[in-house]
Amino acid sequence: MRRVALALCCLTVALAPAMAAPCPGNPKALGTARTITVEPSAFPRIGTVQYRNTLPLNDREVVITFDDGPLPPYTTRVLDALARECVQATFFLVGRMATAHPDLVRRIYNAGHVIGTHSQNHPLTFDQMELPRVEREVTAGIASVQAAAGNPKAVAPFFRIPGLARTRQVETYLASKSLSVWSADEVADDWFRDVTADDIVRKAMERIEGRGRGVLLLHDIHPATAMAVPVLLRELKKRGFKVVHAIPAGDRPRSVPELDTPVADSGSWPRVVKTSAPAMAERPVTAALPRPPAARPEAARTQVASRTTTISVARKPPHTTGATTRHTANRKTTAAAPIRTQTTIQRRAWTTTWPRPTRHTYWR
Ligand SMILES: [Zn+2]
Repeated sequence: MRRVALALCCLTVALAPAMAAPCPGNPKALGTARTITVEPSAFPRIGTVQYRNTLPLNDREVVITFDDGPLPPYTTRVLDALARECVQATFFLVGRMATAHPDLVRRIYNAGHVIGTHSQNHPLTFDQMELPRVEREVTAGIASVQAAAGNPKAVAPFFRIPGLARTRQVETYLASKSLSVWSADEVADDWFRDVTADDIVRKAMERIEGRGRGVLLLHDIHPATAMAVPVLLRELKKRGFKVVHAIPAGDRPRSVPELDTPVADSGSWPRVVKTSAPAMAERPVTAALPRPPAARPEAARTQVASRTTTISVARKPPHTTGATTRHTANRKTTAAAPIRTQTTIQRRAWTTTWPRPTRHTYWR
């Protein structure tokens, strides 16, 4: 009898990691179904957008990743949405953005997400730069994010090349530094001009349904993405998808020291004037936020308005990841039921041209 009890106890322990923990305050949460450990030696290159290999996911499992942040208030909105659904994700941070917002870097980590890096300045020319400059971008980016996090061990050996502008030389260098190179299995085109939250949710779901699983790439620096994430998570739950959290091997600190959110100045970039969107209303932003160092002279003025939401933001054109939609051309897509976000975003008055996606070699 005692043996049976012991066996049952061990079985319970063995099964425990596969069962999502209850989500406080949200019994219907999507949750995080399981974790997988990613060793750079076992997974040097990840993502079928560009590579033959990706993470070992089961059918209807997704890994959610965000690039280019942190940037308030959008990263903050994304973190709120993930927390409500008890979903854990991976954030590929840009070094200079991390230096500007170390409080957000630490909040990301302490919420249980994984932090990877995405270069120091996000140049879209990794496929054209001399190797010494690539090295400087990679090492400075890691150093900045580690300093912002307050503990080098809080930063995973995961790297996403800006604009996905891979070359064999860059990949060889990253492998020599024991870094996993993350591409993606699905993108949602959330860096495109005039994309709406509805577009992002629809494209993400179509492509995830088409492949049945995968690593999804989003950008937490865009208002439309911040508004799409709560809807996307509910849609994943509705369609029976499960979220997998990819974590690095080895010891990680349980948490890093929190930093106070800096007092925002006024009149600078970006600024949320007013919002009534449910996804944003829980943490209304009334103050302007500081200008990030990455702001460029061609900063655009975007006017975002809708029936239920009025947001006025001054922002530069988002980084393009350069991931064209070529890879989706031959991909089977499933007709999806219409997805309604709670807000509709319309953008007007763009004053700059959009960065053009760079070319990539797929299926090497
Ligand atoms: Zn990027």
